[in-house]
Amino acid sequence: MLSRYKPYLRFLRPAAMPFAIGIVAGIVYGLASGLGLPAMSKTIFPILFKDQESLAGVSPWFRGVVATLFGDDESKLLLASCLAIPLIFVFRAAGQYLNLYFIQKAGLIALEGVRVEVFAKLQHLPMSYYQRHKSGDLLSRVVNDASVLRACLVAGSADLVTQPVTLLGALSFLIYLATTSKAFLVVLAALASIPLCIIPIRLAGKKLVKRARREQALVGEFTEYLAESLQSPQEIRSFNMQEERCEGFKARVQEVFRTRLSVVKYQSLISPSIEVIAAFGFAVGLFLGVSNGLTLTEFLAVAVALFIAYDPIKKLGRLSGVLKQGGAAIERLEEVLNEVDLLSDPEEPMRPEKIRGTVTFRDVNFAYAESPVLKDISVEIAEGETIGLVGSSGAGKSTFVNLIPRLYEADSGSVEVSGQDVRQWRKHDLRDLIAFVPQQPTLFATSIIRNIRVGRPDASDEEVREAARMAYADDFIQQMPDGYETLAGERGSQLSGGQRQRIAIARAFLKQAPILILDEAASALDSESEDKIQAALESLVQNRTTFIIAHRFSTLSLVDRIIVMDAGRIVGLGTHATLLDSCPIYRNLYDRQVL
Ligand code: ADP
Repeated sequence: MLSRYKPYLRFLRPAAMPFAIGIVAGIVYGLASGLGLPAMSKTIFPILFKDQESLAGVSPWFRGVVATLFGDDESKLLLASCLAIPLIFVFRAAGQYLNLYFIQKAGLIALEGVRVEVFAKLQHLPMSYYQRHKSGDLLSRVVNDASVLRACLVAGSADLVTQPVTLLGALSFLIYLATTSKAFLVVLAALASIPLCIIPIRLAGKKLVKRARREQALVGEFTEYLAESLQSPQEIRSFNMQEERCEGFKARVQEVFRTRLSVVKYQSLISPSIEVIAAFGFAVGLFLGVSNGLTLTEFLAVAVALFIAYDPIKKLGRLSGVLKQGGAAIERLEEVLNEVDLLSDPEEPMRPEKIRGTVTFRDVNFAYAESPVLKDISVEIAEGETIGLVGSSGAGKSTFVNLIPRLYEADSGSVEVSGQDVRQWRKHDLRDLIAFVPQQPTLFATSIIRNIRVGRPDASDEEVREAARMAYADDFIQQMPDGYETLAGERGSQLSGGQRQRIAIARAFLKQAPILILDEAASALDSESEDKIQAALESLVQNRTTFIIAHRFSTLSLVDRIIVMDAGRIVGLGTHATLLDSCPIYRNLYDRQVL
């Protein structure tokens, strides 16, 4: 079970120091509890209660120490004996505190490492990964599963050190007692019951794994539902979905609750079962011991040692449950960490000497799942050309442009940028050549200036402003309360669609990439935005190879050639005038003025 955690120990590496201190402190705690407490009761109680028989046998060393320190005085001996009790507890407490603090510190550092690595992996996995996994579930893995894992690492590493040491200390003391006095019968009977304690641990453990896995999957679904509901306040209100969403949420919460409860049920069962088994063992031992003349002092020492020995067994039992739960969390994180990047960079990436903005599709076929979305696409686009893409919704226009930056990869055929297959490019280099203006641009929750700088992180403030001016965005940004420092707010919600698209256009200006992909806003923008975007685009498309997914015929006045798509095929390619004559589908779209 522990080997499950081995690959993750590397996350503890940055925390080696606190982890080591934590372990040493744990050993101190374990020894103080397992050995110190029972030994103390064996040595001190006879002195305090003047049990002559035991006093003569066991305490000369302690007497010796006290005599050297305080002189051979009965009352001082009494005081020193009493003070020995808090002294052991001081060691134990300091060990416990340092153990808990440093092990938790190490756990938190490890958690940070796991989270950062999973996040980094998620940032690099291809788009197709996001088709297969819902964002809420991924969110839950980074937040919940990583936390569960941390809790397990913390509980595991703290208890894994302190409890076995305590147990070993107590057991060795018990064995020592067993060899020197009549207490051995009690010890023997009690020890015999220890293997029995494994039974409830194993039984509950089996049940726990399944339930813990299910619980974490359910928490994933629950987070998914939550994220989805918080991301679509508008739809939920306008379609009066509140009640339905609340019902759905309640059902998911209840399911998580039921599974959690069943995890708790089995987890909580472990300790009490061990206690009952232990009590029987103890009773049998006591009976045998007392019938054979066990003294009270001997009994006290055995009782303390047994009590202390059972505590770690209980805790280790509980720990096995916690570790099983952690194992389930690891599985879910591993699924992300071990995901193979199907669109990884080539071993020996190439980069043409001279970058040109040419784009070529050769016999490209593509499907997201089973049904083909692009069929036999072949087209050559010259450097600096402006291409309009038209076709009814679902024709495959977005898919076509997504293949250029290798967001997805052709199933057969090839896509070339600057004369080189996109699979031979390092993705980072390839994407550096391409500026993208989406239909609904995302603004990150930071200042406007930083949002524009996404286009080119090393651009100066002046360059950012210039790009904003070219995108006709400078005016409205200046009018905002903090100008360029205004926060864009969650998903840019304070800005209109037209304003957001102008910010995205400013990003594209700033990027100065040789290829531009623009998905025009489908819904009508305010007329001011519309005019300004049109004007901005006129200068943006200069000297670049541009693809515009057009939703207005007026935009097509900017383009050199138009690609008409229908059901995944190119059904027309040419200028507006030639297509009106030669392409019935285009003619039809034009007549109805729908794009
Ligand atoms: P357009 O941009 O012309 O509206 P798309 O390229 O978005 O068309 O879509 C082409 C086809 O591919 C549609 O049938 C659509 O349902 C499907 N499709 C688009 N995106 C995905 C996706 N991420 N996963 C699965 N199918 C998709």
